[in-house]
Amino acid sequence: MRIVVKIGTSTLAHSGGRLNIRRVELLCKILSDLKNAGHALVLVTSGAIGMGVGKLGLPGRPQDMPGKQAAAAVGQCELMYFYDKLFSEYHHTVAQILLTAEDVRDPRRSAHLHDTLERLLSYGALPIVNENDAVATDEIGIETTIGENDTLSAIVAQLVGADLLILLSDIDGLYTADPHKNPDARLIPVVEAVTDKLRALAGGAGSALASGGMATKLKAAEIACGAGMDMVITNGQKPELLYDLFDGKAVGTRFLGRRPAL
Ligand code: GLU
Repeated sequence: MRIVVKIGTSTLAHSGGRLNIRRVELLCKILSDLKNAGHALVLVTSGAIGMGVGKLGLPGRPQDMPGKQAAAAVGQCELMYFYDKLFSEYHHTVAQILLTAEDVRDPRRSAHLHDTLERLLSYGALPIVNENDAVATDEIGIETTIGENDTLSAIVAQLVGADLLILLSDIDGLYTADPHKNPDARLIPVVEAVTDKLRALAGGAGSALASGGMATKLKAAEIACGAGMDMVITNGQKPELLYDLFDGKAVGTRFLGRRPAL
């Protein structure tokens, strides 16, 4: 299978922005194993800004644009440094791809991006994608950012014609209510279609350093499922669940891809 895995900041880093070494080591080991089993993987990773905050010892995520971009420039190096180090232990070669919204919107640039990703996969490399936060900015009339990696991962999954998109989150999946606030909240194992009712269930952004939330995950599901693939939200704090997923067990929330009518 061709699989895109989106790794969120809350999976990679402790709340202060420093790398969660134990979890990331396990995650890279399992992802290496999935590659060894014959799956083609593309990672979409967040964490540049969060890790930059940790490495620079800032008191929190900067609010202004130059602060975020500077943190991202520092953190992106840190991210690739440890991905390279950990995947190299299992003899996998990583490749960094940094994108802005223009790169995926412009048909010519998007075609080049597609070709590069295809070539990397044919070389057996592991493309690791993030938004180019050090240069992408949102200004009135000039939107160069995608803004969050849930959507970016779905765009990348569509671009490479993936069979499955996996979003590693800080929660087990989509719930009937916010499980942090409501003890009666139940996990929804399968979603056949993203409806207005579901959108109403999805609250705002998640943790202090991350920028996504359930709303952006539903947006990702619409793109991915619209392109015909399934999307699974599972808990990145339990990377071993990926093995269960590939053993065919029910894990997290699975959004069913739209199949062409017979
Ligand atoms: N591109 C951002 C970063 O690497 C994260 C965006 C997101 O978490 O969705 O820090």
